[in-house]
Amino acid sequence: MADTVTERYRKERPGSWARWERACRVIPGGITHDGRYLTPFPLYVRRAAGPRKWDVDGQEYVDYWMGHGALFLGHAHPSLVEAVQAQVGRGTHYGACHDLEVEWAEWITRLVPSAELVRFTMSGTEATHLALRLARAATGRPKIVKFTGHFHGWHDGVSAGVNPPYEIPMSAGIPGAVLGEVLLSPPNDMAALERLVGSRQDIAAVILEPAGGSAGTIPTEPGFLKDLRQLTRDRGLVLIFDEVISGFRYAPGGAQEYYGVTPDLTTLAKIVAGGLPGAAVCGRREIVGLMAFGEDTGWNRAQRVAQNGTYNANPLSAAAGIAMLSELANGKLHDAANARGAELRAGLNDVFRKAGVACVAYGDVSIFHVSLEGSPGAKAKDPDLYHKWRCALILQGVDMSAYHGWVSAVHGEREIEETIDAVARAVRDLQAEGAL
Ligand code: PMP
Repeated sequence: MADTVTERYRKERPGSWARWERACRVIPGGITHDGRYLTPFPLYVRRAAGPRKWDVDGQEYVDYWMGHGALFLGHAHPSLVEAVQAQVGRGTHYGACHDLEVEWAEWITRLVPSAELVRFTMSGTEATHLALRLARAATGRPKIVKFTGHFHGWHDGVSAGVNPPYEIPMSAGIPGAVLGEVLLSPPNDMAALERLVGSRQDIAAVILEPAGGSAGTIPTEPGFLKDLRQLTRDRGLVLIFDEVISGFRYAPGGAQEYYGVTPDLTTLAKIVAGGLPGAAVCGRREIVGLMAFGEDTGWNRAQRVAQNGTYNANPLSAAAGIAMLSELANGKLHDAANARGAELRAGLNDVFRKAGVACVAYGDVSIFHVSLEGSPGAKAKDPDLYHKWRCALILQGVDMSAYHGWVSAVHGEREIEETIDAVARAVRDLQAEGAL
């Protein structure tokens, strides 16, 4: 009998296998991000350029991880390489304010409709943590409304209701008291949200991924954002758009520009820092301004919203962020990336239809999602199948998250055609062993 996809993966990626075994001795499970979990072992990459990357066994891939969505200009884009190289020799941390952080913040306020003031953090997780702190300080209320299936990073305050079954938090080790401050509501359901909010006076904010939960896996229905904006305004709740994924991708001004709905606070990461570590919270002056020191020492000590962070707005990330935002500001790159995204979604659905499998590709702009079960809008049910799917794709020269992929502005027609052919072969391999 022919080897299964998993058996072939073991045989044909020996370099990754050996490295993973070594890693397991010093790193739990051998991986440094839960999203990299792959059975039988993850892929080890040595080099990347443009839309492609090469693994430690010398195999080439069209890449749709794209830095978890951060690399809108592909890997090692010349303008980013130049900006970072120029800065690294001038110093990577001044322990002082510097011009680049001001310029970076100015770019954000220019592009993002809700951004009057900007404060930098190092990751999207820190950004949502700070946004919730700001909302609580601004309202004097403790509770947060979060939608089931929406992901806002890994800190305790947003770990409820991420993956089904939603009663079980995303991780062990989270205090019940923290989970108790989060009120869960189903996405796209205004009636349920109105019932939940009712006449409660203890809710500070509603946070969501505006384009849909889990990077758009559960898309937001048209009209929901406008109704949500109305409800939060009427009830004095802070509306937080977590635009870590959608920021600068849906449009230069993010999903808020794309949908024409302006939140009170926005969290940004990924594209904002051009592929280096960096993130931000921005929004209304009277809320983000709660971080500013004033003349009243009592207020400074007790009422101000505090935040530190050794690497906040470090010059390297700022240089990369400025280079990225200035490249994408006019929206032209979005046309290219979105066109490739649409071609890819259509091509994948064509492959699935011809193969007679239930799988569906869907999504917006330059993001695509795949439901192998044929249930767009729902989170995946059979993790084992998705591991096989990733191994099958890797064997055919495509690397993406099991559930979605990000198309960059430098993916061309050639990459899209290659990907569609590769997926057709991967589907055939999985059908041959009865997995699809
Ligand atoms: N919010 C959303 C919507 C995200 O997709 C992510 C990360 N994928 C985060 C927050 C957390 O960002 P980070 O990984 O930079 O902490």
